[in-house]
Amino acid sequence: MNIAITDDLTQSQADAVTGTEFNYYLLCKRKLWLFSHDVDMEHTSDNVLIGKLIDEESYPREKKGMIIDDAVKIDFLDDNVVHEVKKSNKMEEVHIGQVLYYIYRLRLKGVDIKKGVINYPKQKRTTEVILTPEKERQIKDIVKKVIEIKNAERAPDVLHSKICKKCSYEDFCYS
Ligand code: SF4
Repeated sequence: MNIAITDDLTQSQADAVTGTEFNYYLLCKRKLWLFSHDVDMEHTSDNVLIGKLIDEESYPREKKGMIIDDAVKIDFLDDNVVHEVKKSNKMEEVHIGQVLYYIYRLRLKGVDIKKGVINYPKQKRTTEVILTPEKERQIKDIVKKVIEIKNAERAPDVLHSKICKKCSYEDFCYS
């Protein structure tokens, strides 16, 4: 079913975009389309599994895996700060976008989120993420673009990027 897009993003439009879909838009638009059309192969990816193991082992005492509106899964929330745990900072720009979206979604629900922090336990470093009004406008634009891709009848072209080698859809895209 197609989702309507209006100039002012509505709550139901935001609800139609999950955190995973937002993340995939930043990574690869074809991946977003395949995932949103139920071509789901993510559970077969070793990288996803390694990321989950690092998350579970690094912060054992924190309350983890909060799910908002069945759409967004936050690693953990501590003193009104959203935390995301990643195994590597190679895709840091994508991680920053993902956390900005989480802050946006939580604020939409009326939760007073101060900022986000991306934790890279293997590198022993963190990155702070602030949702400014300008960033919020960019996040809303991306949400609209995610909906456009979900509504599209055909998948975008194969990316032909080095990230394909670590993608769970590699066999599907290059077969
Ligand atoms: S294999 Fe490449 S083109 Fe295909 S979904 Fe993954 S990243 Fe995108």
